[in-house]
Amino acid sequence: MKLILMGPPGAGKGTQGEILEKKLGISTISTGLMLRTAIKEQTEVGKAAEKYINEGKLVPDDVMVALVKERLSQPDCEKGFILDGFPRTTAQAEALDAAGVEIDKVLLLEVDDDVIVDRLSSRRECSKCGAPYNIKFKKPAKEGFCDSCGGELICRKDDVPETIQNRLNVYHEQTEPIKEFYLAKGILAVAKGEDALEDTIANVEKALGLGE
Ligand code: AMP
Repeated sequence: MKLILMGPPGAGKGTQGEILEKKLGISTISTGLMLRTAIKEQTEVGKAAEKYINEGKLVPDDVMVALVKERLSQPDCEKGFILDGFPRTTAQAEALDAAGVEIDKVLLLEVDDDVIVDRLSSRRECSKCGAPYNIKFKKPAKEGFCDSCGGELICRKDDVPETIQNRLNVYHEQTEPIKEFYLAKGILAVAKGEDALEDTIANVEKALGLGE
């Protein structure tokens, strides 16, 4: 299965990616996480991306396309993958197409903007493995620490009110139009992502036609 997860920031792409990764036995590729790791390691890509991320803007297409193409060429992607956070522009979607990557399904997680603002302000991320948490809706077993690796949970630098609104605007202006691109290909599946986590998991399974 070659799957794309689409949706506004905080829609739950990371959480659903984590669940689907286990269920389908394929890797999740989160471009946001790749960039945050690159920033931590101060690589060339990290240095180029930092300013954009902190301002809630998109990193230029050429940087992103090169990063994703390289990642998709790795052996674990041969049996399929889940893309979380890519493509984010029509140019990125076209570049994926032009590279001959045949996507099976695009799952769009639908969540209203007011729910997003509330969610992002309580979101946390593991500083070691990047696993997603939320102190209101998806609490770790031990407060402040990751369930899977024990790493410390931190608040992302771009989950602050000024940046959140920017990211939502960018989503509506630059990313949402990609829906049409995949709708025309007949591979768009839509799931409501607004309610409790269990409901969203069920909605996603139904949208992707995955049975228990
Ligand atoms: P995310 O973790 O998916 O919310 O991504 C965090 C930030 O990384 C975004 O707000 C962008 O600045 C940047 N980013 C991640 N993926 C992409 C992409 N495909 N294109 C451009 N920028 C991206």
